[in-house]
Amino acid sequence: MSAGLYSTRAMLSTVMIESIGPGGQLLITDEIENYPGFQTGVKGQALADEMFSQADRFGAKMEYAEVEAVENLHDDRKLIRTSEGDFTARALIIATGGSHNKLGATGEDEFSGRGVSYCAVCDGNFFRGQDVVVVGGGDAAMDESFYLTGICNSVTVIHRRDELRATKVLQDRAFANPKYKWLWSHVVEEFVGNDVLEAARVKNLKTGEVYDYPTAAAFIYVGFHPNTEYFKEVLDMDELGHVYADIHMRTNVPRVYACGDARAESTRQLGAAVGDGITAALAAFHDLSS
Ligand SMILES: Cc1cc2nc3c(=O)[nH]c(=O)nc-3n(C[C@H](O)[C@H](O)[C@H](O)COP(=O)(O)OP(=O)(O)OC[C@H]3O[C@@H](n4cnc5c(N)ncnc54)[C@H](O)[C@@H]3O)c2cc1C
Repeated sequence: MSAGLYSTRAMLSTVMIESIGPGGQLLITDEIENYPGFQTGVKGQALADEMFSQADRFGAKMEYAEVEAVENLHDDRKLIRTSEGDFTARALIIATGGSHNKLGATGEDEFSGRGVSYCAVCDGNFFRGQDVVVVGGGDAAMDESFYLTGICNSVTVIHRRDELRATKVLQDRAFANPKYKWLWSHVVEEFVGNDVLEAARVKNLKTGEVYDYPTAAAFIYVGFHPNTEYFKEVLDMDELGHVYADIHMRTNVPRVYACGDARAESTRQLGAAVGDGITAALAAFHDLSS
C-alpha cells in the first residue's frame, strides 16, 4: 500500500492486486508497538484501514484477485494472470509478503479450525478462559502468545530448543507474565482429540518421553515462506524463495521490483516493508520516466 500510495501520487496509473484484503500480515497482528509515530502503539487492523484509505484517496485502485502466474516479464508490457482476469503493466512491484509454515505434525490439517490455528488475533476469542498452547519461539510466537495471555487462562509455549529466538524485549515481557508456562526442548508429534482438539502429543527431546499435553487450542508460529512461487524461473532468489533486489528494490529483470517480506535480506518489519514499497515506487517512477 505504501508502493501504491507513492506511485499513484507520482501520477502513475496504479493497480494494487490483493487476494485477501488490504493489510496483509497486519490483519493478523493485534498490537504494533514499534511502528514509528504511534507512541502508545496501534492495532494492526486500524493501521491497515488507514493505509488503505490513504492510498485510495490518491487514486490507487484495489483489485481483489489472486495472482496465479506472470508472463513476459522481460517485455515492455508484463502480463499478470489472476483469478479475475489478466492485467498488463509496464512496471511490476512484488509485495506479496509471506505465509505461515505448517508444523507438519500428524492431525494438524484435521484439527485446523477445530483447535489448531495460525492466528491468535483471529481465533483467540474462541478459547477465552481456557488453557492453550503456542508452538514456536520467535517474535511471532511471543507476540501472539502475549495477546492470548489477555484472553486465556494459561498459555504454554512449546519450543524445540531450550531458549527463545524472539527479541529480548519480547522475551522479557513473556518471562514477567505469570500466565505463561514453558515446555522447553519439546516438539509436537501429533494433535489428538475427537470432534475438536483435546491434546498435543508432545515429545521431550532430552528424555524421549512422549505424552499428551491437554489443550483447548494450539497456535502455531514456526516461520514463514515468501509468496513468490510464480517468479521462480525468472527472478534471482535465495534458497527459500526471497527475491534478490538492489537498494532501489530493482530485481534482475528491468522494471520488476521486490519489497517487504518477499525480498531477500528483509528485516521482516512493518516499517521496513513500508520503506521498501516507497523506494520501489520511486524507482519505478524513475525507470518509467527515463
Ligand atoms: C503476528 C505478527 C506480528 C507482527 N508484529 C510486528 C510488529 O510488531 N512490528 C513490525 O514492524 N512488524 C511486525 N510483523 C511483521 C509485519 O507485519 C510484516 O513485516 C509486514 O506486514 C510485511 O509487509 P509486506 O507488505 O511485505 O507483506 P504482507 O503483510 O505479508 O502482505 C502481502 C500481501 O500480499 C497478498 N498476496 C500474496 N500473494 C498474493 C497473490 N498471489 N495474489 C494476490 N495477493 C497476494 C497477501 O494477501 C497480503 O495481503 C508481524 C507479523 C506477524 C505475522
